[in-house]
Amino acid sequence: MLTLWIVVPCFNEEEVLPETASRLSALMKELMYENRISGESRVCFVNDGSADSTWEKIRSLHESDPLFAGLCLSRNRGHQNALLAGLMLARTHADAVISMDADLQDDPGAVRAFLEQYENGCDIVYGVRSSRASDSFFKRSSAESFYRLMKFLGAELVFNHADYRLMSRRALDALAEYEEVNLFLRGIAPQLGFRSACVEYERAERFAGKSKYPLKKMLSFAFDGVSSFSVRPLRAALVLGGAAFAVSIVILIYCLIRHLCGKTVSGWTSLGVSIWALGGLQLLMIGVVGEYVGKVYLETKKRPRYIIEETLL
Ligand code: UDP
Ligand code: MG
Repeated sequence: MLTLWIVVPCFNEEEVLPETASRLSALMKELMYENRISGESRVCFVNDGSADSTWEKIRSLHESDPLFAGLCLSRNRGHQNALLAGLMLARTHADAVISMDADLQDDPGAVRAFLEQYENGCDIVYGVRSSRASDSFFKRSSAESFYRLMKFLGAELVFNHADYRLMSRRALDALAEYEEVNLFLRGIAPQLGFRSACVEYERAERFAGKSKYPLKKMLSFAFDGVSSFSVRPLRAALVLGGAAFAVSIVILIYCLIRHLCGKTVSGWTSLGVSIWALGGLQLLMIGVVGEYVGKVYLETKKRPRYIIEETLL
């Protein structure tokens, strides 16, 4: 029978954890009762260096019910790394693993549909949100433009899919081969190949607590996504540089003609403008190149993406 693990990264989630645990335990027990999943199935909470009582709560859940497993990272490493740590642990125990946020925004009701697709032979099942009604206007429009930008830049992404996803053991073994430090799991999953399917679900409001993704983190996550999966911004330097050069030739010809006609222009304005425009353009593109060089630097160090402090199984 199928052994299912649900991996839930948690960062300062003491407020939602009890509710999440009780809902997931109810769901898992139902599935076990229906003989759809084995008794070895687990809900694994990954503590991503929380400063509150999240880990103590996970520990007491584990002590009260063996359904709950726990993984404690040595410090905060961010959502993607915490998720990866959980997935890599789950991979050695489970046939299929579902990743889910701790705040109950990912409707646990969709798990049944995930399992159906898995049984139909899919190795990856993407949870896709059917509407963004629960998001603020700002979050909705920024998130949707992010998906469009990524698509334009040539990265393969499943539209409106975040990290609510089922992966088979085979898919996770493939994921383990990806050694990049700048993790962007939702971009890697489509690259793995395998048969996949999408399951729609209604995304709820965060059950309790505050979002751990303030604007600054969201922007840097989006930029990481772009620069980890696309080299087009680098090529943009070439295009922009070429365009600027073409424009400067036109201006040069114009200046020469003015000069030959004997109309010497004072020229401060045009000069000032072009210095600023070209200087700005150069700095911008050096910045883009620098961003990629920085990535190369980080990747060559091959530092561990997470360090495990404790495992409760
Ligand atoms: N999270 C994490 N480490 C972090 C930030 C977030 O493990 O450094 C977890 C968090 O506990 C939650 C999930 O990632 O389970 C998604 O975070 P959140 O709900 O705050 O993001 P939002 O839904 O607002 O984008
Ligand atoms: Mg959330």
